Amino acid sequence: MDAANPTAIEIVALTKRYSVDIAPAVDQIDLRIASGSYCCLLGPSGCGKSTTLRMIAGHESVTQGDVLLENRNITRLPAAARGTAMMFQSFALFPHLSALDNVAFSLKMKGVAKAERQRRAGALLERVAMGHLAQRKPAELSGGQQQRVALARALITEPRVLLLDEPLSALDPFLRVQMRAELRRWQKELGLTFIHVTHSQEEAMALADTMVVMNHGLIEQVGSPHSVYNHPASEFVARFMGGHNVLATPEGLVAVRHDHMQIALAAEGAATPGLPAQITDIEYQGTFVLLGLMLADAPPAMQSVSVMLPEARYLAQPFELEQMVRLSWAPEHARVLGPGAQRPAPRATVPAKPRRDELAAMAA
Ligand code: ADP
Ligand code: MG
Repeated sequence: MDAANPTAIEIVALTKRYSVDIAPAVDQIDLRIASGSYCCLLGPSGCGKSTTLRMIAGHESVTQGDVLLENRNITRLPAAARGTAMMFQSFALFPHLSALDNVAFSLKMKGVAKAERQRRAGALLERVAMGHLAQRKPAELSGGQQQRVALARALITEPRVLLLDEPLSALDPFLRVQMRAELRRWQKELGLTFIHVTHSQEEAMALADTMVVMNHGLIEQVGSPHSVYNHPASEFVARFMGGHNVLATPEGLVAVRHDHMQIALAAEGAATPGLPAQITDIEYQGTFVLLGLMLADAPPAMQSVSVMLPEARYLAQPFELEQMVRLSWAPEHARVLGPGAQRPAPRATVPAKPRRDELAAMAA
């Protein structure tokens, strides 16, 4: 392992089967998440993101496989003994409690004396620049301030890893963009490992050091936003990330970014090189103009493609609806797509024995 970048969470052959007669919700996934990194679990609804997160948190039993936190096997530990904390959608603050009492709540549950829990909660609110608003109720705080209270509340147990399940998805779009910038800032400032579940590729790209793209309980691709976007591993990833056309070529399926497509008018009589296509949509998007097209010689599921042109390029040579054009791309912009994640054969796993310190934590 890289000493400068140790592993915070390691998942080994992690499996969740809710029912014997349907495919596992999470199927023998392996993953390492670097300490101090912002990791996003990304994928369509039902792909197993929340189940994975809940198994890390200890809110869902594991069918098979292991979860390690800083090399400690936590698979069978109760949630409170793991060193993880969870931040929920829309912050889930108690409306009738002050910011201070919200943050102190879990210490109260643990029986920590009032003076001590208020001191610790107060210190954490100071840390997230909310000390001066400690007596306000959630309804008297802005969205950004509520998020900081929720963060402080999650941090009061001194977790090593913070788990966030779609924390921004119930917010209006403007607030969502503001809040995600703030989440990212706090993660860097605190130096904690964040694992954030989202179905939004835009949100994952904005936040993540590492994106984990999931589909049907399997991991399709792991990498930085830049590498996943520019080198999608499969047709699923290329289509889910968006911004790409998937094109059939003699070399197999390739992905080409919309802004890497070349478009030319089909000259009458002459054989213009490229795939023939007809323009079906023209959308002005400010910096870009997005053209929607139908390929003339492709099977129905592969016909629809897009071309993104810089505004100036479009204005220099505007296109019209229903025009016939030719599409091409430079070979270096074509990414050959692999078959994607394959459902693994069942692996024989030897259940790891809990260590003595883990047994002690379980008994506590
Ligand atoms: P995601 O968070 O990616 O939307 P989930 O992890 O919630 O997906 O769900 C993955 C799959 O497991 C889905 O098919 C879902 O219906 C199923 N599932 C989730 N929770 C339960 C449960 N408690 N009981 C049975 N099936 C579940
Ligand atoms: Mg979910």
